[in-house]
Amino acid sequence: MTINPKAKLEETQDGTVVYNFDPLIVKSHYEIDYVHSYAQDSEFFKALGRQELMGSKCKKCGYTYGTPRGHCMECGSETEWYKLPNEGKIHAFTTCYFGGEAFLNETPFHLVLVEFEGVDSLFMSRIIGVDTEDLYVGMPIRAKFRRNLKLNPTDVYFVPKA
Ligand SMILES: [Zn+2]
Repeated sequence: MTINPKAKLEETQDGTVVYNFDPLIVKSHYEIDYVHSYAQDSEFFKALGRQELMGSKCKKCGYTYGTPRGHCMECGSETEWYKLPNEGKIHAFTTCYFGGEAFLNETPFHLVLVEFEGVDSLFMSRIIGVDTEDLYVGMPIRAKFRRNLKLNPTDVYFVPKA
């Protein structure tokens, strides 16, 4: 056992950027490696590499989801995968002036809720290649996929249908 009442942390020469004193707002660096599983949603992310979007369909009531879902929100039964079309139309849209780390350099950016024909729920994604004032509900759009997958939701995005 060591007992040292004079123990002291090393002093450093680096400081902290202070943006505001009241309330105190400081700059902190934050970075981690995050290992996680996509579990039952894995097929959705694997399909992005084939440039396909996969939705979920209830095995019992037939409700169709434009997103991965292990179980039906309508009746609770297990779902199965099915291929979504790569084209749809804008159901709703918004312009974001702030975003998570992945999007900060792209602000402002547009989010859309994509409506696929014959699908009961919507899919949220980004749309690029169109100015805010040119976006409209019902605009035909199509999915594009990153060539070098990151295996995350940003691998797919939408553009106006030519
Ligand atoms: Zn169901």
